[in-house]
Amino acid sequence: MFETLRQSLKTGVVTTSYPQTPPDVSAHARGRPEIDWANWKDARPAAAICPTGAIEFSAEPAGRSVTLDLGKCIFCGLCADVDPAIRMTSQCELAANSRHRLRHTARYQLNDDGTQRGLPAVPATARANAESIAPAGRQLQARIRSVLGRSLHIREVDAGSCNGCEVEINGLNSPVYDIERFGIHFVASPRHADMLLVTGPVTRNMELALRKTYDAMPAPRLVVAVGACGCSGGIFGQNYATCGGVDAIIPVDVYIPGCPPNPHALLHGILLAIGRLPSGAPLQKRSAGGAAEDPGAV
Ligand code: SF4
Repeated sequence: MFETLRQSLKTGVVTTSYPQTPPDVSAHARGRPEIDWANWKDARPAAAICPTGAIEFSAEPAGRSVTLDLGKCIFCGLCADVDPAIRMTSQCELAANSRHRLRHTARYQLNDDGTQRGLPAVPATARANAESIAPAGRQLQARIRSVLGRSLHIREVDAGSCNGCEVEINGLNSPVYDIERFGIHFVASPRHADMLLVTGPVTRNMELALRKTYDAMPAPRLVVAVGACGCSGGIFGQNYATCGGVDAIIPVDVYIPGCPPNPHALLHGILLAIGRLPSGAPLQKRSAGGAAEDPGAV
């Protein structure tokens, strides 16, 4: 007993102070690919090698339109291997409250040989990344109590994931991330939950279970799609066995990209989701079977 206490005192506090401080992520961790849009000469090799179709381009008479979709990206780094205009970063705070905010599109004029020339339309930078979560972190407990009247309870549903996301979600309950310091707890029953955290591309076998879990939750309820699979179907996409992402089945409030997203990325997304429940305001109108509508979207 005394030895345990002695060890605890010797170890000191290991819990991260995120979000008051920036995420302490290894420089070797894989985060989003960063594209030098202005000097990107040819998107075709990267698009051809991307295993999930996260880099798309369309040929138009006036030029080429190129899109990077972080909701599909699994951070494999193959595009960076074939294209010097792309480099992998360790940036993990990528959650967004609408699917289109994860898509960044640039339009180019073309040279005769098909390479890209001018950049008439510069893509919006990752606005979701720049959204400050520090205020959300500071106001979190007060917001939870004012809106929900108690701590936030999360029900996690594995809708067909490889369990990579589950390993990272487990980390949220470790002493390092300690999600309970925010008054946030994981619960076993959807009837006790305010938030549904869903991983996996939603296999056809889990579709009904996911619908029933969502229907069993009391309002107001939040849904967070976790990982590339949850956001878009990821490497599996939509096929005979998978539905192609959580928002194909139930409305989603926040998307957390990554394969898998690390605990900092998960915390960022959960804080973002809670910030979307303004006190006293009705829940945003949702489109059937799709993402919650985002009035601030452009
Ligand atoms: S990191 Fe991998 S999945 Fe992401 S855009 Fe590049 S090639 Fe595609």
